[in-house]
Amino acid sequence: MIVLKEGEALGWILKAGWKGVCPRCGKGHMFKSWLKLADKCESCGLDYRFASPDDGPAFFSLCIVALPLIFIVVWLEVAFTPPIWVHLFTSVPLMVAGCVLPLRPIKGWLVASQYVNKSREAGTDALWAQLHGEERKPD
Ligand SMILES: [Zn+2]
Repeated sequence: MIVLKEGEALGWILKAGWKGVCPRCGKGHMFKSWLKLADKCESCGLDYRFASPDDGPAFFSLCIVALPLIFIVVWLEVAFTPPIWVHLFTSVPLMVAGCVLPLRPIKGWLVASQYVNKSREAGTDALWAQLHGEERKPD
């Protein structure tokens, strides 16, 4: 189990998310396929049912990557007015890759951040306590 000191959390979140490793032990795999989370860490047994990144990866991918790419594509069109096939071989692959490739690291960062910061949806305290072997605090 990784023990984080003050100020190390962000670095650990970025590293665990980028590599797709378990945010608790750093050894097991977070994903069982491209974007599908594993059920449990094969090394330390961390149960990934707590993780709920939902639409977060798609939202951040669109805002951080796709929006700037749209400006590049529009600039290409305005500056050079190329035939449509140029867009098929440049803009379309650029947009598809730019939207899809960041999804996994972003999802990894969100799940690692959720674990490190112990964030959970309202009303799931009992599930969190059960998953992590903690006693539930009285409400
Ligand atoms: Zn683990």
